[in-house]
Formats: sequence, C-alpha cells, structure tokens
Amino acid sequence: MISVTGWHWPNASSWQVKEIVGHSPPIMVPTIGSRDEIIWLPNKNGLFTIGSVWNLWRKKWPKVSWADILWGPYNIPKASFVVWMAILGRLNTGDRLATFGINGVSNCQFCTHNGEDHQHLFFQCPFTLRVWIVIQDKCQVNWQNIPWSDLPQVVAADCKGKSLATIIRRLSFCSSLYHIWLERNNRIFSHERKPEDAVVKGIVSLVRYRLLAISNIKRTQTDEWFLHEWRLPASILK
Ligand SMILES: [Zn+2]
Repeated sequence: MISVTGWHWPNASSWQVKEIVGHSPPIMVPTIGSRDEIIWLPNKNGLFTIGSVWNLWRKKWPKVSWADILWGPYNIPKASFVVWMAILGRLNTGDRLATFGINGVSNCQFCTHNGEDHQHLFFQCPFTLRVWIVIQDKCQVNWQNIPWSDLPQVVAADCKGKSLATIIRRLSFCSSLYHIWLERNNRIFSHERKPEDAVVKGIVSLVRYRLLAISNIKRTQTDEWFLHEWRLPASILK
C-alpha cells in the first residue's frame, strides 16, 4: 500500500478509502527522503509481538491467589498444566466421567474406594496419603484434612516468596499431583502398578532436576535443612 511517493490503495475508488485519503494530513503522504517507520501501537515500545496481540484480544480477569503456584518462574509446565486442571476440577476423574455417562472407572485405582473424585484421589486415598506424608515432611508443611476447594489458597500461602523452601514447596505440590495423576492413568491404560515409594521417588526426582537447573535462589536461614533433605548443592543459591 505504500510506494516511494504515495499511497497505492487496493481499492482506491471506494468511498471509505477516499475519505481516509481526504482526511490524511500531508505529513502522512510517503515522500522521498522522509523517514517512515511502522509502529505497532498496542505495544508500548511500538514493536509487534505475539504477546502484545494476545494481551490485546484476551479478556482480562483478576489474578487468582493460587496463580503463582503454577506459573511462577521455576515451574514445570507439564506438572503445572495437570495442577491447573485439577484445581479447576476438570480432570476426568470417575465422578466427572459418570456425568458424561461413562461408568468404567468409578472406583479409585489405588484403593478400590467407590467414587473417585479429586478430593479422594489426591488427598483422602490411603495410597496418596502415604505419598503426601513423605513429601510434606520434606517440605515442612501440613496440607492434610483440608477440603479440596480450600487447598489452593492454603498451598499458595505456604509457597509465597522466592526462598528455596517456598520454591521446593511449590514444585513438590505440582509434581505430586502430576505423578499421582500419571500413576492413576498408568494403572487404567497401561495396567502398570507402581508402589508408593516409586511414586515418591518420581516426585523427588522431578523436583530435584528442576532445582538443579537453577543457580540464583536468594539465601535464607532455612536453606541448609532443605539442601540436605533434598540432596542439593549450595551452587543453586546466589
Ligand atoms: Zn483411593
């Protein structure tokens, strides 16, 4: 549409284009020697980015209190996604499938409890309870006996901040839900059954590998305990 010395509109005879041309100030007509620049107004720096388009079009809602558990700087995307779905109650647990008329997996895959739902699967089941006992000890938290609907707020409060302890808690919560969901699906679809200690091992490994890729965590008084408990080098601290 822009040539060296003027506009070349695709449909110059249209009255809309004529109106635009008629109202354009002379400074906007391309001329030889003048400096032209394309500016993307929705972005403050004038540059076009996919992010700026996304922010332009999306509907913005207030930030939920548990957002930082999932999307903080040290998250594990595959685990965050499962936790996000779990918090929204959107994982296809037995109770949810039953509402769609699918009744094949109504029993808990770990303890055969009749009625698999998010609360039972992730926190009330004796199997997952044994997993949480180990993980909670390693995080110095107590997330037991909290209704599923209240849990994200409680966990978010325990995970606030950027210390090693809070990063470990955040990663552990997400990795635990992720591995419990993975184990539940493996039992249904692959007919493979791991014991609790193997699930715990998977959670701990996932958290450790993520932490080993970090090297700038701010030092605090509780670091020594967590470094020892999670077998981590001090080099992950600033
Ligand atoms: Zn169960």
